[in-house]
Amino acid sequence: MHKACLSGSSNSDISSQETIIHQIFGSFLRSRVTCQSCNTVFDFFKVFQDILLKIKVVEYPEYLDLRPYMSDLVEEPVLYSLYAVVVHTGHTCLGGHFFCYTKASNGQWYKMNDTSVDSCSIHTVLGQQAYLLFYVR
Ligand SMILES: [Zn+2]
Repeated sequence: MHKACLSGSSNSDISSQETIIHQIFGSFLRSRVTCQSCNTVFDFFKVFQDILLKIKVVEYPEYLDLRPYMSDLVEEPVLYSLYAVVVHTGHTCLGGHFFCYTKASNGQWYKMNDTSVDSCSIHTVLGQQAYLLFYVR
């Protein structure tokens, strides 16, 4: 999708170019280093579109508050709301089957599995072995 948004661009470093994909999914990861001798603070920023985590116990909330993990102190919770879950079945990453759960604009959850679409509850969604989680602020 990112490549398709870069119409006619010949720049080889396409990862650094801004597109709507970056605007929707992208963010910056800040690494802060403080010199122990002079206390000078160095900030390093890295563009990212996803965070890979090694997780053993798959448990995820409907609402995710990122405030405890932010470097800037804010008073209000920084809430993200779950809106889609991709589930993978099968024994390897190279094979198997993918289906997803998606929340409609009216708040109803649906299981989307190839040609079938079935309504389901949030409890069903939160009980899945998730492969990908999508949150929106
Ligand atoms: Zn220093």
